[in-house]
Amino acid sequence: MRKTIFVVAGVLAFAVVPPSAAQAASTATVVSPKRPLNVRAGAAAWTRSLRTLPDGAAVAIECQVKGQLIDQGPVRVTDQWDRLTDGSFISDAWVSRPPAAPPPCSPPQQTAAPAAAASAPTTAGTVASGTTALKTRGGPARSAVLYSGLPNGTALNIACQTQGEPITGTMRATAMWDRLDSGAYVSDAYVNRAATPPSCTAPAAAPPAAAPAPAAAAAAQTQGVPEAGRWVSPLPGFSARPGFRTPTNPSHAGVDIMSFVGTPIHAASAGTVVEVVCNIEAGHSCDQTGSAAIDGCGWYVKILHAGGVSTLYCHMVHRGVVKPGQKVAAGQVIGYVGSSGNSSAPHLHFEVHVNTPPTSPGNAIDPLPFMRTHGAAIG
Ligand SMILES: [Zn+2]
Repeated sequence: MRKTIFVVAGVLAFAVVPPSAAQAASTATVVSPKRPLNVRAGAAAWTRSLRTLPDGAAVAIECQVKGQLIDQGPVRVTDQWDRLTDGSFISDAWVSRPPAAPPPCSPPQQTAAPAAAASAPTTAGTVASGTTALKTRGGPARSAVLYSGLPNGTALNIACQTQGEPITGTMRATAMWDRLDSGAYVSDAYVNRAATPPSCTAPAAAPPAAAPAPAAAAAAQTQGVPEAGRWVSPLPGFSARPGFRTPTNPSHAGVDIMSFVGTPIHAASAGTVVEVVCNIEAGHSCDQTGSAAIDGCGWYVKILHAGGVSTLYCHMVHRGVVKPGQKVAAGQVIGYVGSSGNSSAPHLHFEVHVNTPPTSPGNAIDPLPFMRTHGAAIG
């Protein structure tokens, strides 16, 4: 187990914002004398690195967004990230610029939405946030980039809902976030609405005369299959990026699904819990936030399914809520997302093994095609 679990960085893709021509760029200078500065896809160090800039490089900053707090930069301690004119981000902690901060970034332009999305039906809602403005963000969490605030009573056009950070608001306590037709997200906890918007991850309803979508066909294939054969996403609403045994991380025996602390993790299929274990380097605790410098997959649960398939769920925030020997159903909650063990951000490390027991690095397979062919695509 040790040395086999690593975090693949750069998995949060929600923060890319199309540049706005309306905002004038200001010129600044990168201060990064020891190593090149990563230019990222979002306003956090765990988002994808798009390229690097050397010390002294000139950059054109369009605007700023709130993101991950960076306290190790040479210029300032800040949670502000500078959006460059191509839509990429650098932490303002590494930027020398005039004292006046760049303007805050605007929400994505509605005109940038594809024509098909613009014509899609939306669910009407109203901001119910009392005296404070409801924040619109680049993703379904308070850690996502901040776009703007919508005053109480603002009318909303909700395109769909997705699972994110749990929020308790004026209307309800919920982990659902509403994606507006502008592409920005607001917590559904502060939205007054009559109807429930559709899921952002649900397959689009096929036109009556059209062939069924692949997802619908896969679902049809599972009809009549016993419960034991049904597979579901372990983190509905979140998706994994390819990361199984990549050239740069050949020992990574699973895929990583970035999420938020406390998001429920579901059994991917019916089976028997065989392990509920803290796997961590000696001298450390699974009940603390881990780091990339610590070995081990933290608190994990292993489930044995029919056909000799086993699944593994790592980095839980605390001990799984199931016990060894317990039978679980597909979709049953087995624990909650955290960042224990060898992990630099909250996520689920998910492994699929065949010809088990026992599980070993040699019988791990890429979960993405396996889940896709079992009607439960996760990436
Ligand atoms: Zn991983």
